[in-house]
Amino acid sequence: MTKSRQSLLTAPVVCPRDAYPPTNIQRPTSGLSHSCYDEILRIGIHTTSQGTLEKTALKAHALGANTFQIFSASPRMWRASPPSAADVKLLHRARASLDLKPLVIHDNYLINLASIDPVIRRKSIACFRGELERAVAIGAEYLVAHPGSYKDQSLENGIRHFVQGLAEAAQNLARGGTMLLIECTAGGGCHIGSRFEELRAIRDLAAAASDLPIGYCLDTCHLLAAGYDIRSQAGLARTIRDADRILGMPNVKLIHANDSKTPLGSRADRHQNIGQGHIGEDAFRRILAHPELRNLPFILETPVDNEGDDRRNLETLKKLCPKRSTIKTKSS
Ligand SMILES: [Zn+2]
Ligand SMILES: [Zn+2]
Repeated sequence: MTKSRQSLLTAPVVCPRDAYPPTNIQRPTSGLSHSCYDEILRIGIHTTSQGTLEKTALKAHALGANTFQIFSASPRMWRASPPSAADVKLLHRARASLDLKPLVIHDNYLINLASIDPVIRRKSIACFRGELERAVAIGAEYLVAHPGSYKDQSLENGIRHFVQGLAEAAQNLARGGTMLLIECTAGGGCHIGSRFEELRAIRDLAAAASDLPIGYCLDTCHLLAAGYDIRSQAGLARTIRDADRILGMPNVKLIHANDSKTPLGSRADRHQNIGQGHIGEDAFRRILAHPELRNLPFILETPVDNEGDDRRNLETLKKLCPKRSTIKTKSS
């Protein structure tokens, strides 16, 4: 069947290079970016690689992503070494050649800057200092951090301690292009950050205590689990209105796109494949097309239980994206 102009305009965003073979992963020379993307549409995935930083970029591209998230060191160890200058250089080359941006780093799971346990607190501040230094050295646009747990104290004190820890870790940090993004949480246990008001309080207090640039990351799974009903059109509109009123949507820089294994208000942080959880494909289609969200990078943190789950989730997300022609009319 010949494709008419009409069918091209309404064709789903499917990348002809999705089959870019992983066996062909080599250092890029030029012009290998996915032709399905444009300047605005940014879809990516948390990518791990046993090897170098450059390999994480090549892997993200091979999976069909044009933005990606990584850990800058083992996420379950306190100690980490800085990246090598040679590896950072190769990463820059790969990112430029493959049009991979932004690069997001997710912070270590052990860090709790809100903790009042002196040992955990000291280790968390030192570890977070390392996160900030590596993010700047690697040239990541964003470092995503969870606001921690207020165990054995009030929520207000937990927020205060988090901000103090943040400010201490960021003291005299060499300035780079990295912005810290505070991520919303599902709110289980004593986790800070399940209400927009808590995230706003953190940013306001941090602005007074540090000159670190701070924005927000919203995670779709965490939003649902925290009680923000993003499943329906009306619920999504209400959530975005609240986010704009409390956080200011221009301060939201990144969406973590995850479906949820647990229902609305469950306060459990259990990520699910896109379309197979309590959020569902229809809701993701609306989320991806929402005028306040569609120009943001979407990064998956979905489970990889079976080989190919990462690629399949990326393909699903791309399939649910608004049509390219719609995206391009942003400024018109
Ligand atoms: Zn997340
Ligand atoms: Zn999560």
